Amino acid sequence: MSLRFQAINDLTNATKVAVPSTSKVTAIFGENVFTLKTARSFLSDEAYKSLVASIKGSKKIDRAVANQIANGLRAWAESKGVTHYTHWFQPLTGTTAEKHDSFFTIKGDGTPIEEFDGGTLIQQEPDASSFPNGGIRATFEARGYTAWDPSSPAFIMEIGEGKTLCIPTIFVSYTGELLDYKGPLLKALEAMNKSAVEVANYFDKNVTKITATLGWEQEYFVIDEALANARPDLVQCGRTVFGASPAKGQQLEDHYFGSIPERVYAFMRDFEEESYKLGIPLRTRHNEVAPAQFECAPIFEEVNIAVDHNTLLMDVMSRVAKRHKLRVLLHEKPFAGINGSGKHNNWSMATDTGINLLAPGKTPKTNLMFLTFFVNTIKAVHDYSDLLRAAIASAGNDHRLGANEAPPAIISVFVGQSLAKVLSDIETRVSDKFDEQDEAILKLDLHRSIPELLLDNTDRNRTSPFAFTGNKFEFRAVGSNANCANAMTVLNTIMAETLKTFKKDVDALIEKGEKKEIAIMHIIQKYIVESKKVLFEGDGYSEEWAKEAEKRGLPNVKTTPLALDAMITEKAKHLYESNAVYTHTELEARHEIELENYLKKVQIEGRVMGDLALNHILPAAIKYQTSLATNINSLKAAGLPEAAYATQVELLKEISERVNIIYTKVNEMVEARKAANNLTNTREKAIAYEAEVKAKFFDEIRYHVDKLEHLVSDEDWTLPKYREMLLLR
Ligand code: ADP
Ligand code: MG
Repeated sequence: MSLRFQAINDLTNATKVAVPSTSKVTAIFGENVFTLKTARSFLSDEAYKSLVASIKGSKKIDRAVANQIANGLRAWAESKGVTHYTHWFQPLTGTTAEKHDSFFTIKGDGTPIEEFDGGTLIQQEPDASSFPNGGIRATFEARGYTAWDPSSPAFIMEIGEGKTLCIPTIFVSYTGELLDYKGPLLKALEAMNKSAVEVANYFDKNVTKITATLGWEQEYFVIDEALANARPDLVQCGRTVFGASPAKGQQLEDHYFGSIPERVYAFMRDFEEESYKLGIPLRTRHNEVAPAQFECAPIFEEVNIAVDHNTLLMDVMSRVAKRHKLRVLLHEKPFAGINGSGKHNNWSMATDTGINLLAPGKTPKTNLMFLTFFVNTIKAVHDYSDLLRAAIASAGNDHRLGANEAPPAIISVFVGQSLAKVLSDIETRVSDKFDEQDEAILKLDLHRSIPELLLDNTDRNRTSPFAFTGNKFEFRAVGSNANCANAMTVLNTIMAETLKTFKKDVDALIEKGEKKEIAIMHIIQKYIVESKKVLFEGDGYSEEWAKEAEKRGLPNVKTTPLALDAMITEKAKHLYESNAVYTHTELEARHEIELENYLKKVQIEGRVMGDLALNHILPAAIKYQTSLATNINSLKAAGLPEAAYATQVELLKEISERVNIIYTKVNEMVEARKAANNLTNTREKAIAYEAEVKAKFFDEIRYHVDKLEHLVSDEDWTLPKYREMLLLR
């Protein structure tokens, strides 16, 4: 019996894993986190104060205090049964990395003891050459080190019976280049903070710190593990490279917000418990549009923490799924023909005085502050849309962007009717003659019309890649499998730059003798005029929009290798350098890594396709051909007229034709891969993989394979079918 039928059989007899017993979230929330509250009871006053100061970013921790903190951390961890620690980091592989070391050590005189000192808390040295480094390794040292990020609290990861103390860290090459996602993110957040505080001080002198906030919405598929294991493509690529559409897909729209299947529910409850213990504030769970697709979302947090929590969650979900004999698919497009998965990034900025800068205020003055940050965001997106596009580019997301249920590859901003009106009012009402300006401008009545309207769910546009949703922007084009840090680094860097320029522009007018508010209003107007072509309120999925966008000169880059070009333009290099986020070397290395990552994924998919075609599809087809041929021969032998086996002959012909095409195309694809592999320039190689391998062969081979799936006897088909993976649980 093939794995396919075994899996279906096992599924019928599967024993269900129980739903964890209900406990109040507050009873377990953050139980495995070294929160400040926990720190208070495990640290001396001095160590505690120093930790708090370093979290605020105001003070570095010295070695002696680090020793104290390390001791406190170990005492806390040991009180919870922990024996090992690891520096936890986010290398550019897209997953998380950890190398566990025991607290246990033997002193010079032979005494065995448990120890964790400040040095090991602050720094560890994993071998950088085993992680993507984009050529930095070749020119510099192979070594690298991880450095403690005190702004993200340490936590205890429970894996089965084992417990490990995890120290969130950044990952750096020995010569100082950042090799991870967190490092640049922290720098981008700092740059944004600096520029944003200066602008916020126009309105409120008490603001001394601005943090960016992020609430991600994680979409994912859940399917039975045995069925997943019987699909070598899911195992190796995270997506199915073949599979005919099931009769019942998502057309009945009966899955979205439907009742959650029991087995999945047990899984959700289980990973939620684990997440709560880790301090991940999950709040929402529901079915998504596609069958077997779901979503979860937390309460938003400061960006750095939210990013850590999202990467941690993806890891936790995948591990917990195993307990339930389920498989979580985080790929952007695991199944063709039905919706893919995204990860909406809800983003805003908040002051240390407790104001959400993207929430319209109640008075003209606070509204001017809102407008300032709102319009600066639009301007940033307009000026650097190519970088936002690059930030979401990946082999997986290419299947989704521009497909009819996901935002297009064109970056535009949706602001909603009422704000669109406000913007056009400002554009027309602020005249060039400064002395004619009056308070009227400031009384745009925002405070009366906006709040209710904006929070009304009807004024939503689900087709926009970057939408204003009442008190935050929602960057929707981010892929489900992505590390949000990438999108957040770009967004906060371009905000830093735009706000910096805004400040300069406004100050220049003030110096000319203009009143502050009027100067601000003028620059806001100028920015609206300069960036309005990025505003789009209509259907982002439509053909007309693609045409209109082209007329407006908005880029529509559909493939990753080309989208990534934006990363290394002179403009990008200048932007990142002047905001101290990436050096040129780091940027070029990252570009190289992303290209390599892309082409390797396409390469693997091509090989998996070839393997499945030759070892699964063709054998099944040939087996069925044989039984058809045998049948024809026996009917012939029995003296029946040709008409009696005409259908069989037709089937046989069609199968033969498709078998031939598949075989030929698979071989041609191998040649195309070889040609691509011979290219030495990584960019050219990635482009070749896209254009000469993927675009030329993937769809065509798949087309014939999926046709065969309909023709060949179900019994002979070895790969679990879409209807089984999506509908059986
Ligand atoms: P929806 O967008 O589906 O209507 P919500 O508006 O409640 O749902 O929020 C979606 C996500 O946006 C949640 O993760 C939420 O925490 C987050 N969010 C809400 N306010 C902010 C904010 N100021 N900054 C960042 N994220 C936010
Ligand atoms: Mg939302």
